[in-house]
Amino acid sequence: MDKIYVRTCLVCGELFETNESRRKICSEGCYNTRKISYRQRSYINQKINMRNTVEKQERERLFNEKLKKAKEANLTYGKYVAKIYLETHETIKERLEKEKNGKTIRDNDEGE
Ligand SMILES: [Zn+2]
Repeated sequence: MDKIYVRTCLVCGELFETNESRRKICSEGCYNTRKISYRQRSYINQKINMRNTVEKQERERLFNEKLKKAKEANLTYGKYVAKIYLETHETIKERLEKEKNGKTIRDNDEGE
């Protein structure tokens, strides 16, 4: 006599009896449901992979653009990035300097 296993179906969660020790799904209907959701999962994964690829391509495009501009400016990529950083940094520094000067002038006005 075959051994009977009592299992919980992976799809519907119902208890079922089976003589197949490896069986985890109660019926053909549940099996098909699982197959569909499995396919949907791989479809979603495919979409995520596609998005990651697009993002990677965009990063590479931006990098190549910078590289091209660096070449046009006759700079290495590292120097170009540093230059851009310094320019941005300088703008902030200049703005802070202006604000500081403005404050200094006002302070002097109050003092006299
Ligand atoms: Zn089931």
